[in-house]
Amino acid sequence: MEQILDKARALADEITLWRRDFHQHPELAFQETRTSQIVADHLTKLGLEVKRGVGRTGVVGVLRGSAPGPTIGLRADMDALPIQDQKTVPYKSGIPGKMHACGHDAHTSILMGAAKLLTRHFRPEQGNIVFVFQPAEEDQGGAQEMINDGLLRDFQIEAMAGLHVFPGVPVGQITAVRGVGCAAADTLRIKVIGNSGHAARPHQAIDAITATAEVISALQHIPSRFVDPLDPVVITIGKIHGGTASNVIAAEVELLGTVRTLNPKLREQMPKLIEQVVGGVTGALGASYELAYEFGYPSVINDDQMVDLALRTADRLLGEGSSKIVEPSMGGEDFSYYTHHVPGVFFRLGVGNPEKNAVYPLHHPMFDLDEEALPIGAALLSAMALDFTKRGITS
Ligand SMILES: [Zn+2]
Ligand SMILES: [Zn+2]
Repeated sequence: MEQILDKARALADEITLWRRDFHQHPELAFQETRTSQIVADHLTKLGLEVKRGVGRTGVVGVLRGSAPGPTIGLRADMDALPIQDQKTVPYKSGIPGKMHACGHDAHTSILMGAAKLLTRHFRPEQGNIVFVFQPAEEDQGGAQEMINDGLLRDFQIEAMAGLHVFPGVPVGQITAVRGVGCAAADTLRIKVIGNSGHAARPHQAIDAITATAEVISALQHIPSRFVDPLDPVVITIGKIHGGTASNVIAAEVELLGTVRTLNPKLREQMPKLIEQVVGGVTGALGASYELAYEFGYPSVINDDQMVDLALRTADRLLGEGSSKIVEPSMGGEDFSYYTHHVPGVFFRLGVGNPEKNAVYPLHHPMFDLDEEALPIGAALLSAMALDFTKRGITS
């Protein structure tokens, strides 16, 4: 097992070439046809069972051990972002307005590397390893589409592991969160409906703008007065639109906002709490309302045993102290859908290195990573998968 990092480093040039090729040819959510073709060809060449079209552009490869045993899924997302690449490196994006600014090109090549590493050098004695190449993480929830298409059921996946490159963590280190790893991100649309009239005769109208002002203030009573202060919740109204002229009372105002929660139970209560406040305030002022609450990605929930597996593997391969437990973030990630069905771990792979200009945050037009991290990622996922096929989840 200790040789796994050396064997992965022997594949470093190949993994780097894949990453640079994907980086030059970014594809947006559910348009990953070129990427998934390359992935499918690679898996087929390795002699794996390959299934395409799982979650539209998704690809699945299966490596079976010699005997039956626990099955783990390793996931990489493949989609890019609608961002203009501003780097000056030779492998910068060749497609205007599209860029791998979240490092999903690295995730895809790391998992291709892991597939090669495991197939060629470290075939599991028992159990199965399923390589999950997922479309559309940034938008439209590709994870959910793959689950809908039977990913977890058909391949009998008992646990999932995935990583995200992270420039805030130095190369050679990983971080993970225990329990709830990141926030659920939901969208809130409110329409406050009044009755238009002359600005000088407010008593003959119902002013949607003054009613809206009260609604916005009252919404902040939810985090501060209705919810346990130890349970984080953010309600942000990011956009408001209403009114036509200085001397006309506005008939309608539209609000657009986001609601972030860490606790899934609290998340489910949010639409009702919001409706109570919006309905009460508008009703008191003679106005009415329409409310639409759209659930986005749920929060990632990391399983304790799977977190231990990630930490233990990192410490063994990269040296004691190379893994760290950190606090959750309020960002979103659709790996969460897997963790609501099977035990899972989603951890951050350090790719930060100021000497290689790998300092810009995810989604930044200058984002880049230290490619030394690519074989490390492949070795970590491979070693975790092998370990899992030996023990599975113990209850
Ligand atoms: Zn992203
Ligand atoms: Zn991402």
